[in-house]
Amino acid sequence: MQWLVTGGAGFIGSHLVDRIVDAGDSVKVLDDLSSGRLEFLAHHEGNERVAFVKVDLRDLEATAPHFEGVDRVVHLAANPDIRLGTRVTDTDLQHGTVATYNVLESMRRHGVAEIAFASSSVVYGEDAPLPTPEDHGPCIPISLYGASKAAGEGLIGAYVGTFGFRAWVFRFANIIGARGTHGVIFDFIHKLRATPDNLEVLGDGRQEKSYMLVEDCVDAMMHIIGQHNVPFTLMNLGTEDTCSVRRIAEIVIDVVGVNAGISYTGGDRGWAGDIPRARLAIDRLVASGFQPSAASEAAVRQTAELLLREILAEHD
Ligand code: NAD
Repeated sequence: MQWLVTGGAGFIGSHLVDRIVDAGDSVKVLDDLSSGRLEFLAHHEGNERVAFVKVDLRDLEATAPHFEGVDRVVHLAANPDIRLGTRVTDTDLQHGTVATYNVLESMRRHGVAEIAFASSSVVYGEDAPLPTPEDHGPCIPISLYGASKAAGEGLIGAYVGTFGFRAWVFRFANIIGARGTHGVIFDFIHKLRATPDNLEVLGDGRQEKSYMLVEDCVDAMMHIIGQHNVPFTLMNLGTEDTCSVRRIAEIVIDVVGVNAGISYTGGDRGWAGDIPRARLAIDRLVASGFQPSAASEAAVRQTAELLLREILAEHD
């Protein structure tokens, strides 16, 4: 099986490439290295089953030829920074919506019919019931990033309905673990290294979300992609519990080993467009026979330890 992973040099993508290689398949990575890193794939150097192409998915003509001979696409490339949309309003449109259209169109041109897509819990918006099941609607995202994910899902549905594609759309909770380059744990470690006596937390710290280990995320994707063969599969990927930002701050302070106070900027959310409380219903995932290996708080602690080690090694 020849896979193509967009964003495969990124955090989640590089872990997925590891799994595909473990499964004995071949994989081509398309990435513009805007937030991904070649080091995340360095351990595959010399492996002829892993190919890397630096390309910007916003350019359809440069992207399409790389889909020749591909059996299945996993589309992970996107701007990972939800907050960026408060300052720059076309990033998610270009790297999200337009890039997703270009991936689908490249597939159509080359007769590739299977796509898995990294969507997000943020498509549900902020008025959804908790835990949120996949059939909740209407989905009204409140960030430009969320809008681009909803648009991506819509475009994929259109290619399934119009061109006979098969799709697996995954709505991720917060995915965390080794090689993380963004997100609350990463930010807290960097803040504490700059000011070890105080940790500034955006919002009131009561924001509460689910966290899933990246290994669980990619294992669940591989499990579902292999198992469900209906034209359009929609699946939440997360854990059953949540962890508050206040608790994450305490855990990171403990792991970094400093004696820091915590100050809060106030307000119920980190930034405009942030969703303060998120928990996905994962009944479909569990019914498929997959159980995440770690709950949110354990995943947060494990990630803080791993990221601290990585950050210290980088600055040695
Ligand atoms: P990441 O930034 O590590 O990975 C994204 C990759 O896409 C990077 O390698 C980047 O270089 C690449 N990329 C971006 N724009 C591109 C373009 N125009 N052309 C080619 N490559 C491009 O982020 P991640 O956390 O690994 O996220 C992977 C996917 O999962 C993204 O679609 C993200 O929106 C989604 N997601 C992540 C989370 C999470 O908690 N990490 C939660 C929900 C959804």
